[in-house]
Amino acid sequence: VLSTSQDFDFFYFVQQWPGSYCDTKQGCCYPSTGKPESDFGIHGLWPEYNDGSYPSNCDPDSPFDASEISDLMSQMKSDWPTLACPSNDGQTFWAHEWNKHGTCSESELDQHGYFSSSLNLKAQINLLKILEDAGIHPNGSEYNLSSIIGAIQEATGYTPGIECNKDSSGNSQLYEIYLCVDKSGSNIIECPILPKGKCGTSIEFPSF
Ligand code: 5GP
Ligand code: 5GP
Ligand code: 5GP
Repeated sequence: VLSTSQDFDFFYFVQQWPGSYCDTKQGCCYPSTGKPESDFGIHGLWPEYNDGSYPSNCDPDSPFDASEISDLMSQMKSDWPTLACPSNDGQTFWAHEWNKHGTCSESELDQHGYFSSSLNLKAQINLLKILEDAGIHPNGSEYNLSSIIGAIQEATGYTPGIECNKDSSGNSQLYEIYLCVDKSGSNIIECPILPKGKCGTSIEFPSF
C-alpha cells in the first residue's frame, strides 16, 4: 500500500455512447485504429466517496505505463476506444484515466488490475443488448429516461445513473451510463449515491 494512495468508498464504472460524444458541436475523431464498433465504450473506473465527492490525481510518482498492460491491448482498443481529437491509438485517454482516477485506487488495484478489472466489468454487463432487448435502439429516436433506467434495473438488479449531453441542435441525449462497483473492482453494487444527471424526461439515443 502506497502512502500516497488515498482511501475511497466505491467506484463508478462509467460507459459512454460514442454516437453522443461525436454528434456534439465539438465533434470527435475516430481512433487511429479505425471507427469503433457501435457499442458502449468504457469512459473510466472512478474511485468515489459516499458523500458524492471524489479524489483525483493521487500519485504523480505512478505515471501510466503502457508496457504494464501490453497483454490487454487488443481488448483496450475495442472496449475502451478514444474519440477525442486529434486521432490517436487511445493511450492519451488511458493515461488520463489512470493518472486522474486510477492512481486514487492504488490501495486496491495496481495499473494492470485497474485496466483488467474495467475490461472484466464491461464483459459482465452488455448494456447495448439490455437496451435493445427492451426495445430501446440507437436509431435517433427519443426514449423516456425512466424506461432506460428501468430496463437496466430489471436486467441487472441495479439502478444506473444516466448522464446526458447535447447534440449540435441542443437536444438532450444519452451520453453516459454509471454503475457502481465495490472497492475490489469486481462486483457491481447498488450505488451509495447517484450522479446528479442533467437529462430531460425524454432523451435521444443517436446512432453511431
Ligand atoms: P464532464 O465535464 O464530462 O462531466 O466531466 C469531466 C471530468 O470530470 C470527467 O472526465 C471526470 O474525470 C470528472 N468527473 C465528473 N463527474 C465525476 C464524478 O462523479 N466522479 C469522478 N470521480 N469524476 C467525475
Ligand atoms: P475525465 O477527465 O472526464 O475522466 O475524462 C475526460 C478526458 O479524457 C477529456 O480530457 C477528454 O479530452 C479525454 N478523452 C479522450 N478520449 C475521450 C473519449 O472518448 N471520451 C471522453 N469522454 N473523454 C475522452
Ligand atoms: P477534457 O478537457 O477534460 O478533455 O474534457 C472536458 C469536456 O469536454 C468533457 O465533457 C469532454 O467529454 C469534452 N470533450 C473534450 N474533448 C472533446 C472532443 O474532442 N469532442 C467532444 N465531443 N467532447 C470533448
